[in-house]
Amino acid sequence: MATTYEPVIGLEVHAQLFSKTKMFCGCSISFGAPPNTQVCPVCLALPGALPVPNARAIELAVRAALALGCTVNERSVFARKNYFYPDLSKGYQISQFDLPLNTGGKLVIDTPSGPREVGITRIHVEEDAAKNLHGVGHGTDTLVDFNRAGTALIEIVGEPDLRNADEAEAYLKKLREVLMFVGVNDGNLEEGSFRCDANVSIRPVGQEKFGTRCELKNINSFRFVRKAIEYEITRQEAVLSAGGTITQETRTYSDGLGKTIPMRTKEDAHDYRYFPDPDLPPLVITRAFIEKLRVTAPELAEQKRTRWQKELGVTLYDATVLTGHPKIADYFEEAAAALAGKDASPEARAAAGKKVANFVQSEVLRTVTTRGLEAEFAVSAEYVAELLRLVEGGSISGKMAKDVFAEMITTGRSASKIIEQKGLSQVTDTSVIEAAVAEVLAANASQVEKYKAGKTSVVGFFVGQIMRATKGAANPQLVNDILKKMLDAQ
Ligand code: ADP
Ligand code: MG
Ligand code: ZN
Repeated sequence: MATTYEPVIGLEVHAQLFSKTKMFCGCSISFGAPPNTQVCPVCLALPGALPVPNARAIELAVRAALALGCTVNERSVFARKNYFYPDLSKGYQISQFDLPLNTGGKLVIDTPSGPREVGITRIHVEEDAAKNLHGVGHGTDTLVDFNRAGTALIEIVGEPDLRNADEAEAYLKKLREVLMFVGVNDGNLEEGSFRCDANVSIRPVGQEKFGTRCELKNINSFRFVRKAIEYEITRQEAVLSAGGTITQETRTYSDGLGKTIPMRTKEDAHDYRYFPDPDLPPLVITRAFIEKLRVTAPELAEQKRTRWQKELGVTLYDATVLTGHPKIADYFEEAAAALAGKDASPEARAAAGKKVANFVQSEVLRTVTTRGLEAEFAVSAEYVAELLRLVEGGSISGKMAKDVFAEMITTGRSASKIIEQKGLSQVTDTSVIEAAVAEVLAANASQVEKYKAGKTSVVGFFVGQIMRATKGAANPQLVNDILKKMLDAQ
């Protein structure tokens, strides 16, 4: 019988810290600047230049670690990771090795069989390399852009706890969400501020010992992570089933070919000749500093989803959509709080939450543009709350609210201003509605006969006629009530 194999996957994620400047110098890291304009002696590795750690970057690394349940070490050590490559002009990368800033954490992911805890081995701080640009300039030249060199990163090393591509994708999405909600990383895969290497091996089901792994490098989309891992699992199964052995190596994924291809044999830690960087003293942070960051930790998306379901009347689905971006989550909470008003009862808060959740999902979301951690809304949360308050108070119908909202987007005016200027107020005057109902019933005697004969479906026809007669401005609830009363009196 053919052996069945179980995949084992562990992910290493490099996440750019959301700092304006680099890890060991004051150069800007804004994306898209002309090549080699954001450089200085430190990040160009000129002789004699000395690195100075970026305090903001360290703070963000600790914030990330706390959100992932890590132990933050009061004393950690920067180490040199030595290798040669054109994008690394110092000949070494400043990283951390045996004494990293953070150790031992976890991330809980959702799987079809329920929540699953994935271990985090360590989170260390390091600097990014420069960027080789192939085939630019004269023909086949490779040029080097040092703007990225020295950018502050954390590397999050995950335990080999994942068992398939779905779990790997869920882990990455959850990790990205956590880092974005803590304000540590902008989650931008295309610009490379969140990058993943996937380690994949397989072992016969029931065997405890791990198989030999391959490391898949530089996968820059969630879709590619899935495809690369799935391809790699199939490839390794084919090799082992044919009696071969897996070579430990670094591979890359080519979407064009739909396969992973070998890059180089995998180096081991000793190949890098790590040693403490003599230019940098051990990094010492105080317990008080760590505790301060712990108590000021922002609420995570997961916590928001749970709380909103309890307090703001939304479903898990609503909450998931509304935590799609930290700024959208803030917007929803702000509008829900404004609509409920101060000192609202729990019921009123839940009712307001549900109304805002519906309106944001149906109308607001398609007018939002997000870029990294920023988001731009066409209409402020406060204005949306005011609009929904006018619906609640009966000034306009829910249907009219959509048109008013469209007008708010184009004019930038508030709902009350638009309603006043356009004379849009909803008709709640019962005598006006009664007159319209009477007119419609008189003009449609045969439909009235049908109703009396038991054909209640004609009610919809009448409502349509009355709304048309009132140009859509009649309060629908009142129309329904009055119509029913007057029909039954016929
Ligand atoms: P490096 O890749 O830098 O040499 P490690 O040896 O510590 O570092 O491994 C890094 C990653 O490889 C971790 O995410 C870990 O979970 C994963 N990993 C280690 N062994 C295996 C294995 N046999 N199969 C799959 N993943 C593995
Ligand atoms: Mg690795
Ligand atoms: Zn610099």
